This record gives sequence, C-alpha cells and structure tokens, in this order.
Amino acid sequence: MRQKNKYDVIIVGAGASGLMAAAQMRQYDIKILVLEKMQQAGLKLRITGKGRCNLTNTMPIDIFLTHCHNGEMLIPSIKNFSNQDTITFFEHLGVELQEERGHRIFPKSGKSLDVFLALMHVLEKNKNVDIICRKPVTKLITYKGRVTGVECQNEKIFANTVLLCCGGETYPNTGSNGDGIKLAHNAGHKITPTMPALVGLRTKNGHSKYAHNYLVKNVELSIMTANGEILAKDCGDIILDEYGISGPIALKLNRKIAELINNEQYLKAKIDFKPKIKEDHLKKEIDKILKERTGQNIENIMRAWLPMELIKDYKYWLTSCKGKTRLNDNILTYLKHNTDEIIGDMGWHEAIITHGGIDLRYVNCLTMESKLIKGLFFAGEILDFDGDTGGFNLQIAFSTAALAAKNIIKSL
Ligand SMILES: Cc1cc2nc3c(=O)[nH]c(=O)nc-3n(C[C@H](O)[C@H](O)[C@H](O)COP(=O)(O)OP(=O)(O)OC[C@H]3O[C@@H](n4cnc5c(N)ncnc54)[C@H](O)[C@@H]3O)c2cc1C
Repeated sequence: MRQKNKYDVIIVGAGASGLMAAAQMRQYDIKILVLEKMQQAGLKLRITGKGRCNLTNTMPIDIFLTHCHNGEMLIPSIKNFSNQDTITFFEHLGVELQEERGHRIFPKSGKSLDVFLALMHVLEKNKNVDIICRKPVTKLITYKGRVTGVECQNEKIFANTVLLCCGGETYPNTGSNGDGIKLAHNAGHKITPTMPALVGLRTKNGHSKYAHNYLVKNVELSIMTANGEILAKDCGDIILDEYGISGPIALKLNRKIAELINNEQYLKAKIDFKPKIKEDHLKKEIDKILKERTGQNIENIMRAWLPMELIKDYKYWLTSCKGKTRLNDNILTYLKHNTDEIIGDMGWHEAIITHGGIDLRYVNCLTMESKLIKGLFFAGEILDFDGDTGGFNLQIAFSTAALAAKNIIKSL
C-alpha cells in the first residue's frame, strides 16, 4: 500500500523544466515541493537568449524535430505540449510574445525575466506549491524499486513521486553542474557521455587580439577532416577571438561535431570571408588591385576587402606561418581558405547546452518515468536530448516537463 507522505511530488530543480512541471500540476489538489539548490530559482532561464529568452520556435513539428538530437523520442512530449502550447501557455500568463527571424519566439518586452516571473507568480500564489531554495538534493531514497523521497544532506523528505529536473552541466554557476545526472546514475541509470555543445570552437592559432570578439557577417564556415572532406558547413555570422571562432554558425556547427571533438578527432575549420565571390573572380580582382596600388602599404591594399580589425588579423595570420611568399596567394588564401586546426571547444562555462545525459533506453518516453524506479520521472536537459539554437532547447524542457507532470498526476 502507498505510504501517506507529506508531499505528492518533489521536483528537484527550479529551472525551466522544474517550474513548468510545477505550473502544469498547480491546479490539482496535490502537494508539490520544489527543491532548488541555488539561492534563487531559474538562474539559467533568466540569462537565456542573451537575457531575451528565445522560448520556443514555431517551425512545423516534423521540421522542429530534425533540429533535435533524439528527435523521434521527443514525439510524445511535443505532441502532448507543442510549441503552440508554449505560446498559448505564456500568453495566458500575460506574457506578450513576438516572432522574429527563423521562427524564433521572444517576449515582446525583450526580457527573459518576464518569462521567469510569469512562472513564479502563478506558483507563489498557489497554496499547493512550496519552493525552497538553498536545498541541494544529495540522494534519491528508494524502496523495493520505487522512489519514496529525497535526501538533502542529512534531511530526508518523503513523497510519492520525484521529478528530476536538475539540468545538464553548462554554465555551472547557474546551478546545473551535473549533480542531477549523478543522482540518476547513482540510482542505476546509464548515462550517455556528456559534452559541451552549442559552444565556440578553439583553434590552434586563433585570431589576432585586435579582432577580439569581432563579429564578421555573412561568411561561410566549413568543418573538415584532415584530408579535406567537408563534414558540415553553413553561412552566417561568426565571432573571432584569440582562442578561436564562436558566434551563431560556429555554435550550430559545433553541435554537429561535438562527439568528434570529444573523441579528439583531427578536424579543421575553414572560413571563407567572401563566399559570394567566386575564387577565379577574386583572384583577378586581387591582381588588379595589387597593380593599381603598387608601392602602397598593406593596410591600403587590404582595405579593398577588409575592415581594419581584420587587416590586423591578416597580419597576425601571416606571422603564424600560414603565409606563403606571393602576396596574391596570401590574400586569396586568407580571404577564401582561412583554415586552422580545431583543438577543442570553449568548454562548459560557455556552452549553451549539454549533449548527452540520462540514456533514453532507461526512460519511458511516453510518460517520462524511469524504467528502473517507479515513481521517478525526468524532464529537461538532464536527459539525452538537445537541439539547435533558436528556442528548441527550452521547448524540449517545457514539453518533457509537461508530459512528466501529466503522468505524475495520473500515477497519484
Ligand atoms: C547562456 C545560455 C543561453 C541560453 N539561451 C537559450 C534560449 O534562448 N533558448 C533556448 O531554447 N534555450 C536556451 N538555452 C538552453 C536552456 O537554458 C536550457 O535548455 C534549459 O534551461 C534547460 O532547462 P532545465 O530545467 O532542464 O535545466 P536548468 O534550467 O539548468 O535548471 C536546472 C535547475 O536544477 C537545479 N539543480 C541542479 N542540481 C540540483 C540538486 N542536486 N538539488 C536541487 N537543485 C538542483 C539547478 O540549480 C537549476 O536551477 C540557453 C542556455 C544558456 C547557458
């Protein structure tokens, strides 16, 4: 017989998925406890989208899922609580939304805080929900294959169900430092190796310090193997610095090669600063400009193609031994075949998302319940799901949370 506990459900982690799960269950007559280890809830949610919170993406679901790792396993969650449901949900809470380029949805106010506060307001005024901060959960309590509660250091708190929403390992200062993944692992769940994803690429030579955080628009970035085979490429904006390449397309491509980087496979990144100009056309143009500007200094010559910051980067590139003898060849190579070895990524402190997490073979993705421990549910980044930039990751957190919440209610 089920024990009579103080709580019906303990949610571990007051981030995007934990708060959404609590919000989904708030109308039911059940006692919900949210335990958050940080001094405040939702620290990561508040910094999403550079403080603007790209909370979902309105692409049709079949296309949406192609932007997600393990997309097919997400189908039950997304069908139960879709991108349109996220929009309706937040609009009902009074958050006005707007769509931007690439089907991305943001609050009209441009403030992620409004998304966070909307969730907190409905929870704080609900007598069934307690949120306690500075309460790190250190262990799951189980009995005869069923979860019965959690331990917070020496204190035991009992509940009929537990929902683990502890996030992944990125931006560990926000509280998601892999604790939750360890809790699941200690309870017997296999973990697919975790690695930073949606993060900048560290390259061997990097770029000039004068190009620090320099945004270059409309370039083509390719990721290649040692023998030049192109694994992935995209056009868009990049950011250069001393350590390598970041910015939107570098992050996007990184997600595709995160596992190869993690396995230390030899890879190269090639920037084409002039993707719209064909190589032989550019070659002729370089010859012509060099003739016209004979005797002028390199800055004056390079001004034909580059801003000052990148001219300094060109000079740095020459000194890092990539330059050959002929000026024409050097200019062409810098502009169109700017290639450097990838030596890693920018790490957990800069990554947007965790690739890997609780192995989905241990989770019933129709309910989000553990296949090993009854009454234990999972949602959000703790699971082996991740998506591109563009609102996919918060939608994954919201959808998995809503499905877990629905099935927790059913199970009580
Ligand atoms: C800089 C940045 C910008 C981003 N921008 C976007 C964006 O615009 N759009 C988008 O879709 N995605 C974005 N993401 C990704 C998105 O933030 C995550 O996918 C999402 O927050 C995951 O939600 P979650 O609830 O699983 O984890 P989190 O939001 O990380 O929440 C987990 C919570 O659990 C708590 N916790 C951990 N361990 C314990 C424990 N043992 N006991 C108690 N509490 C614990 C943590 O302190 C944390 O509060 C961004 C990520 C970063 C880092």
